[in-house]
Amino acid sequence: MADRKEQLRQWDRQHLWHPFTQMKDWCDPENTDDPLILQSGEGAYLFDIDGNRYLDGNSSIWTNIHGHNHPTITAAIKEQAEQLAHCSALGFSNEPAIELSRELVSLFPEDTLSRVFLSDDGSTAIECACKMAIQFRQLTGEPERIKFLSFTGAYHGDTAGAASLGGISTFHERFASTGFDVEQVAELADLERFDAGEFTAVILEPLIQGAAGMRVWPGGMLASLRQWCDESGVFLILDEVMTGFGRTGTMFACEREEVIPDFLCLAKGLTGGYLPLAATLTTERVFEAFLGEIEEQKTFYYGHSYCGNPLGCAAALASLHVFRDEQTLSGLPDKIDYFHATLKAAFGQDPLLQELRLCGLIAGIEFHRSEKAKTPTQGAEMCKAARQFGLLTRPIGDTIVLMPPLCITTDQIDEMVEAVREVSRLY
Ligand code: PMP
Repeated sequence: MADRKEQLRQWDRQHLWHPFTQMKDWCDPENTDDPLILQSGEGAYLFDIDGNRYLDGNSSIWTNIHGHNHPTITAAIKEQAEQLAHCSALGFSNEPAIELSRELVSLFPEDTLSRVFLSDDGSTAIECACKMAIQFRQLTGEPERIKFLSFTGAYHGDTAGAASLGGISTFHERFASTGFDVEQVAELADLERFDAGEFTAVILEPLIQGAAGMRVWPGGMLASLRQWCDESGVFLILDEVMTGFGRTGTMFACEREEVIPDFLCLAKGLTGGYLPLAATLTTERVFEAFLGEIEEQKTFYYGHSYCGNPLGCAAALASLHVFRDEQTLSGLPDKIDYFHATLKAAFGQDPLLQELRLCGLIAGIEFHRSEKAKTPTQGAEMCKAARQFGLLTRPIGDTIVLMPPLCITTDQIDEMVEAVREVSRLY
């Protein structure tokens, strides 16, 4: 068995190219920390091949909702796999996709978001919204209206179009010239600089920007942006890839300011974090513009092989049922209060703390750079050190992110915060 583990580590270094990872460090024989090979999960915990247990402090890159190996979701996937794992949605349909679209629409007020386009992941949910927003203008006599507005610090995915909307230089600068025609603004007041008539849509991560380092928008910003969109005729695309499914305390972040977007992009937590699946929701007004005779060329020619994948849809339906059966949302306010209070008590007086940013069950703990840091990437160093205290997470720069599955208990919150506290003592 020891040989098998060593063999796996060796093969990983030889063949796997990991995302967002400097592979020189990863493959360095001196680096005995990587790869950490995970084998199983149970609730908020993950286990590696050596049997070590860790709290999943960032919900496996912001995806997991009800915990790992939840019996309802696991059973739904198994049951669906025994029936039909995949069939094309191009010209065909399947039961879980139909039921999922109905249930998603039912989460919003009647006659608002009534149409659901299913794709694969956060980036494709965004691409789909953007292409719909461009084609809508072509179909409704404003073909010149193809530009997008996005915000500095934004992150909407890594496919070329989605990346061109992003505003984080490390990730986006290299490919800035290869995507949509985008203007970036830092705040609402900047919108006035532009001629709204050139723009089809503005895109926003509502309430909190994730990859920017968990940066919380001022209260009322979202509602004001909706108002600006209504006045200027620009579509509002909300990217709830991270904030969707309870992360901020309500099912969707847009509910907090009673805003309904023209396009809503969902992914990550849609399947409870079990399988890749995304949804772009939109209105009947948008949908109807695409209706016509085949020769009118109004069809939305966009689609991926795995659009509407039955396994993913079965997992997503099961996740929505867990929300209902376990009353997940009603348990959140107390849990969120506890999470915030515990973090403030742990780090409020810590001289290493630069800023603590909180929104629902999301925390960005930004530390000052310490003289004790051994590398330029202190955050990464700290997250590696957290493993020895039983916590897995990933930093953004010097900000440690905590975004546990919603099923986390108060004892596990204590455990998670204490692990970060232990790490901060080393710096
Ligand atoms: N939008 C937001 C707000 C995200 O945080 C992410 C991923 N971190 C994406 C889009 C892209 O999603 P995916 O990685 O599933 O393509």
